[in-house]
Amino acid sequence: MWKMQQIITHLKNSRNVLLATHARPDGDALGSLLAMGLALEACGKKVTFYNESPIPAAYGFLPAVGRIQALMGSSDQYDTAVVLDCSTLDRVGKGAAAMLQIPTLINIDHHASNDGFGTLNLVTPAASATAEMVYGVITALGVPLDRDMGTCIYTGISTDTGSFQFSNAGRSAFAICEELVGLGVQPDVIARQIYGTFPLRRLRLLALVLGGIELTPGGEFALMTVTETMMAETGTTPADTDGMVNYARGLETVKLAALIQAAEKKNGEAGFHVSLRANGSVDAAAVAGLFGGGGHVPAAGFYTELPLEEIKARLFDIAGDLAPWEVTTHPLPEQAAGNQA
Ligand code: 5GP
Ligand code: MN
Repeated sequence: MWKMQQIITHLKNSRNVLLATHARPDGDALGSLLAMGLALEACGKKVTFYNESPIPAAYGFLPAVGRIQALMGSSDQYDTAVVLDCSTLDRVGKGAAAMLQIPTLINIDHHASNDGFGTLNLVTPAASATAEMVYGVITALGVPLDRDMGTCIYTGISTDTGSFQFSNAGRSAFAICEELVGLGVQPDVIARQIYGTFPLRRLRLLALVLGGIELTPGGEFALMTVTETMMAETGTTPADTDGMVNYARGLETVKLAALIQAAEKKNGEAGFHVSLRANGSVDAAAVAGLFGGGGHVPAAGFYTELPLEEIKARLFDIAGDLAPWEVTTHPLPEQAAGNQA
């Protein structure tokens, strides 16, 4: 608890705070970022919301989302940075190096693999979502929660628990959300925004992706691929593929599912982002780690500049013998993290 107190004391004394979260943000990243920022503003702090990626349209309803900026300006102006939902600082993207110049870095995250990059670290793998931890910070700050903050926190918990379907949807997730609904947060409206407002282009892309699904003979591994050609043909962008990998995970035989997706070029190099999902018996984070990525046991990912055919070949090679990745025979501390993303 003393870590929380140190963070609260520091935040109360801060003046100009940069808030950041990981590139390719999901609902937990954005919900945590916005709720934390709104609460700090309620304490009279100057706040800058930073994320270097485009914001997926499905999250356009979040309060204050329009204030998120892709440039942080000079790092000199900030006395404090709060980094949310990032297991390592480089998950922030290009801005990571400049953030190291900020005197105090506060790291708030629920990844078991978090490397403790902050000056002050609050890492709780048992939390269903970083948004659940942000709820705790806001409460400890003594800021009264309002409906806007609640909407952001609810969105983070809802998305990281797969709409309360995964094993991390425990008592605290439900208890917090119950309180938030009491503040006027509307689960039906949020669910419709996140899961029920897909543009037609996404369905057209999904049709192509499902048509090209590849499986191991026993169906333990399912691989889906989103190529640049498919995106061009359907007018989609990487933000339109959010959650698609779950179609492969839901197959009855699947232990491990992957979605390979052409990513935006970095330094002119063509690369791929790979999302991995496991059904509980395989450690997706350990598989992602082989490629320099990471995440949680059930949901992990990595970025690579290997050629597409080589990524596929390596994944099928791993899938040929999933035994070394079975969490039942090789228990890892990350198991406690549940089904987070
Ligand atoms: P997604 O597949 O939705 O992009 O990511 C699922 C989870 O995997 C994320 O919440 C994050 O924990 C992890 N993850 C995704 N991409 C990367 C990556 O490039 N590097 C690392 N270390 N983790 C990633
Ligand atoms: Mn998260």
